[in-house]
Amino acid sequence: MKLLKERILKDGVVKAGGVLKVDSFLNHQIDVSLYREIGKEFRRRFDGLGINKILTIEASGIGIACVTAEAFGDCPVVFAKKAESKNLDGELYTTKVTSFTKGREYNVIVSKKFIGEGDKVLIIDDFLANGCALIGLMELVEQSGAELMGAGIVIEKGFQRGGEIIRQKGIKLESLAIVESMDEENGVVFRN
Ligand code: 5GP
Repeated sequence: MKLLKERILKDGVVKAGGVLKVDSFLNHQIDVSLYREIGKEFRRRFDGLGINKILTIEASGIGIACVTAEAFGDCPVVFAKKAESKNLDGELYTTKVTSFTKGREYNVIVSKKFIGEGDKVLIIDDFLANGCALIGLMELVEQSGAELMGAGIVIEKGFQRGGEIIRQKGIKLESLAIVESMDEENGVVFRN
């Protein structure tokens, strides 16, 4: 997605440890018109699949999932919550995810009320790095008996393993910008 790549080159900041900061437009301050274009692009890439529910994870995925839902004609968005293990009960789908940016493990939950058999689910998230967040969301979909129609990612870091793992599973994975390499000296280089 050209508009997104141009914005990453203009305003993205490469940090030590393989972290790309895009907090001036994507996941802290939000450029809503860019979000809207992202939503339309996901609609274009996943059109005609009968998607009736969008699943994401708090917090950064929520806004992107909402504009995407609007582009799909207002299908509901469900966001997985990060939870303390003491809150968990039988009414929830649960799994564990290791955070790339925070380097610790946490539980993610979704209420059984909101996803189930017969649903056709699209997963949306801001970043794909090692794939832990996405694999966790896929596990929740599997527990629910719903059908996973694909995953839409705004920025995939192609030099980490997540994309390869997910594609090997045969999942339709669409990343709007794939970073091939990045460093503080040369900046960001995209995969063609
Ligand atoms: P994964 O689980 O694929 O290793 O990492 C995905 C999650 O980590 C995303 O939901 C995102 O919040 C965060 N993340 C991973 N890499 C980056 C990065 O380079 N920059 C930012 N801002 N977040 C990242």
